[in-house]
Amino acid sequence: MFGLMQDWPLLQSRILTHAARFHGSAGIVTYSVEGPVHRTDYATLELRARKLAQALGRLGVGHGDRVATLAWNTWRHLELWFATSGMGAIAHTVNPRLFDDQLVYILNHAEDAVLCLDLSFVPLVERLLPRLAHVRHIVILTDRAHMPATKLPDPLCYEDIVEAEDGDYAWPTFDENTASGLCYTSGTTGDPKGVLYSHRSTVLHAFATVSTDTLGISARETALPIVPMFHANAWGVPFATTLTGARLVLNGPHHDPETLWKILDEERVSVTAAVPTIWLALLEYLRATGRGLPHLKAVTIGGSAAPRAMIEAFEHDYDVRVHHAWGMTETNPLGSVGTMTAETAALPPEQQLDLKCKQGRPVFGVEMRIVDDDGRILPHDGRSAGHLKVRGPWVARAYYRDETPILDADGFFDTGDVAHIDQYGFMQITDRAKDVIKSGGEWISSIALENAAVAHPDVLEAAVIGIPHPKWTERPLLVVVPRAGRTVSREEMRAFLADKVAKWWLPDDVVMVDEIPHSATGKIQKTALRERFRDYRFDAAATDG
Ligand code: ADP
Repeated sequence: MFGLMQDWPLLQSRILTHAARFHGSAGIVTYSVEGPVHRTDYATLELRARKLAQALGRLGVGHGDRVATLAWNTWRHLELWFATSGMGAIAHTVNPRLFDDQLVYILNHAEDAVLCLDLSFVPLVERLLPRLAHVRHIVILTDRAHMPATKLPDPLCYEDIVEAEDGDYAWPTFDENTASGLCYTSGTTGDPKGVLYSHRSTVLHAFATVSTDTLGISARETALPIVPMFHANAWGVPFATTLTGARLVLNGPHHDPETLWKILDEERVSVTAAVPTIWLALLEYLRATGRGLPHLKAVTIGGSAAPRAMIEAFEHDYDVRVHHAWGMTETNPLGSVGTMTAETAALPPEQQLDLKCKQGRPVFGVEMRIVDDDGRILPHDGRSAGHLKVRGPWVARAYYRDETPILDADGFFDTGDVAHIDQYGFMQITDRAKDVIKSGGEWISSIALENAAVAHPDVLEAAVIGIPHPKWTERPLLVVVPRAGRTVSREEMRAFLADKVAKWWLPDDVVMVDEIPHSATGKIQKTALRERFRDYRFDAAATDG
């Protein structure tokens, strides 16, 4: 027997119309590409999204068509998300930090018919356009006064096409499983793969992200998602703020610590989210200038492991609560968050900090298991590490236009991460499966070593890779970027790490570099480091484990 409740499809346009009706005057602030601070609100956003839907319809965009964006976090980008998805088309966010070949591959694979770009990316698109097979219209996200001189053929001015419409448009109703957004993984191995979100997955994910046990985005907060909208939908933060009517602040093209601090301060931001590299730079800036974060209550850190020293600095020095989160493009992206339970909140502060260094408890909607190489499910003992697998209503079941099956017989998706889960349900990523260091038949966690190393006062950033070893298969090499004017030695680092990791984990050598390469989504690029140290071998005398 079915229940007798209404079947009301979970559509993204419904989040927007709710915000327009009940939080119409709540603000959306952008530190814009053109320069000035732009201020709008949810009522205006909804009206302009309707006009944009009319304009896109006039350009021939129909149900299921892909509209690509090469754009920073701005109100116009948000209007594009809601207009395309609201009309039944698909918002395809493209990461402009990828290489040309990857961008061409992605835009051709998605067969984007319309390409919308910020002023910053005009030279990029001028370069790429001859290789793009499907793009019919180019829209530049600016007003008439800022339209650039460009070689691009017939570029449309975003403000012109929006303002030419009257907004007399009603959001259509359709199946909640309709595709709404498309985002490609960066494809560190092989070609990039498209993750195709649905209205249902995005709306359910938005419900999950607003909770106080996850990102805590209530109607009383001011949220700044520094994580770009092209990186797994800015972790869903703009959908979450629209759902609750929270004030939304967008940083446009600005990612330098000084401007980010200014935005946090001027706009009295209370919750924010970004990858560790952003926070590393901001914390350095705060230390150097003596400035603080008086308005900020909580920071979500994810994308890569948050080092203990970073969590301690936020919580102890600046009184900002850290939400350490894990997720991936394939999970919309939220999978787990490290907020405390009644039981863990009663633990001594040091033990709570240990838990905050883990990637947190699975959010309802993401079922998690860890399995060994033979597929056996491992216990939640905080030690048994295995392949992390997930399933749920906002986990991908296939990649876009790709026949390769990606789920196991139980419907679980293999994340490619290696993790363990403790008795409190806190999951800890120990490595990407392809980055684990196999030493003497055991695994050494490169993430644990990196996090221990960055706690050293002279270390700014650290990365650990496995180097082939005749006796142990592989041994760890610690690559360090020292703080300005400092140096670190092998002996000093080994002594520092000695009481923090198992003795057999101690890196066989430590090398200093000026910079560690990062991927387009801010992760340490282990492939590039392994390539750089391809011919490196340990000095035989120093390396007997
Ligand atoms: P890409 O691989 O394209 O950069 P994703 O953002 O989807 O894109 O990357 C997801 C991966 O990032 C996860 O599988 C995991 O390896 C890593 N990751 C995400 N959050 C964390 C975290 N808090 N700690 C450690 N690793 C993380």
